[in-house]
Amino acid sequence: MKLIKPRFVSDELKLLRCLHSRMGFPVDDLRRYENLEKGFKGEQLFDKWSEDILIDGLILNDLLFEVNNTVFQIDSTLISQETLFQFEVKNFEGDYCLDGDKWLTQSGSTIRNPLHQLERSEILLKQLLQNNGYNMHIESYLIFINPNFHLYQAPINQSIIFPTQLSRFLDKLNRTPSKLNGKHSKLAETLVSKQTYQSPYKRLPNYDYDQLEKGICCPHCRAFLDETLKCKCGFEEAPSTAILRSIEEFRWLFPDEKLTTNGIYEWCKGKVSRKTIRRMLSTNYNLVGRAKTSHYIVKS
Ligand SMILES: [Zn+2]
Repeated sequence: MKLIKPRFVSDELKLLRCLHSRMGFPVDDLRRYENLEKGFKGEQLFDKWSEDILIDGLILNDLLFEVNNTVFQIDSTLISQETLFQFEVKNFEGDYCLDGDKWLTQSGSTIRNPLHQLERSEILLKQLLQNNGYNMHIESYLIFINPNFHLYQAPINQSIIFPTQLSRFLDKLNRTPSKLNGKHSKLAETLVSKQTYQSPYKRLPNYDYDQLEKGICCPHCRAFLDETLKCKCGFEEAPSTAILRSIEEFRWLFPDEKLTTNGIYEWCKGKVSRKTIRRMLSTNYNLVGRAKTSHYIVKS
């Protein structure tokens, strides 16, 4: 198995992490943020599991497409000789119950039926393949990766893989005869190139500069570093890298704001000297404008 497209933290989750350390979230945004974190953890578990797929195959993670004005994302895709496998990964934890077609959590609230989501993306994926001249067989699976998940009244459905079935499912995948050729690599390239883009800024909670807490956030636990650039989690950092990270975070959150020494000094809550900030900015960015209007821009 060859990993063609690795998984990264999505732009949206990156931005939410930056914001969450610096402001309180309204309930809905908080839930959304926590779900994204949880989902990402599940996908990482899945990636670990998928390292044991041994057949000749290509893996592409986090593909985002738009077909028929519908945007859909596929957590993981495996191209084998005859079949394209799509995996929807769920990191559900605790007890869930099926009531007919309805999926209920233990507290009784209804969630979106993940099987419908899976079916929908299979239809759209099939169409995308056909539009690009491919007529490949697709198999779709809903993977429940969390060992603490249980579904009461579970139906017998070949598309659902429960945590206790993961190792048998892996054996089954590894028995799939597969020998890839140039056509399969071309298909992988096509899938990567046909992706769409969604701005991560649209779905963020409202925020403005004044409302955000200033300081330098730890890259591991997102708490603020102290005066000596140490974190309570044990992490410590040199001023230069702490500044570069803070600049990047500032640019992420405020793509339209000007980058200045004073601005970054305030953003870091004075935890690092203006002199070092100026040095990091002038080494890594280009200075434009004069005197009071001067600021830094990304090197082209
Ligand atoms: Zn930390």
